Amino acid sequence: MKLLFATGNRGKLREAREILAPMVEVLGTADLGITAEAEETALTLKENSVIKARFIHGLTGLDCFADDTGLEVDALGGAPGVHAARFAQDIARRDGLPLPPDHDFGANIDALLRELEKHPGEPRTARFRSVVTLLLGGECHFFEGTLEGRIAYSRSGSGGFGYDPVFIADEYPDLSVSELPEDVKNSISHRGKALRAMAEWLKNCYYPGV
Ligand code: IMP
Repeated sequence: MKLLFATGNRGKLREAREILAPMVEVLGTADLGITAEAEETALTLKENSVIKARFIHGLTGLDCFADDTGLEVDALGGAPGVHAARFAQDIARRDGLPLPPDHDFGANIDALLRELEKHPGEPRTARFRSVVTLLLGGECHFFEGTLEGRIAYSRSGSGGFGYDPVFIADEYPDLSVSELPEDVKNSISHRGKALRAMAEWLKNCYYPGV
């Protein structure tokens, strides 16, 4: 079966293709020439993933799925949380500095490391949390996954995207997620867990016998 992933993020798309093959052939919005992106205005991952899925469904009329991912850092009271994509902007706004662009992975990591410098001696424990919304026949179905770990003191590795260079998963305590091969990241990751739950649901409930 073919399913549209409501994302323009090439890293997410690559991961989803690896995780869902061969049962689901995953198309990205770029494959349909769509560059518009939904505004993530909600306060929860679940609502934001619904917004993204409904936005792309509205443009295409196609069944689709979307994920929204947050990063919760304990020493920062759970920030950046649902604002993970805009953390550097939030901090710049708070400090009265010029705003970096949205989704600037480098600026977000710099902001995160700088904020954590203000909490010396505190645990750097953190987790990624993903909610996937599958929009099928106009109905939403939800799947979730988390990845526990901690924030490193500096970047390492060149794989993955987003906060991967500074996130150390509990399962691989000597490497950042950026240093893990993609299939290894997918086997433990928040999105991997949520997407495998979606695949299981599709296999058992929606397309029995697929
Ligand atoms: P999004 O709104 O779901 O795209 O995710 C918000 C932000 O979380 C993104 O801008 C990325 O910086 C970060 N993010 C999402 N998934 C991952 C991941 O698998 N690894 C590292 N960072 C991620």
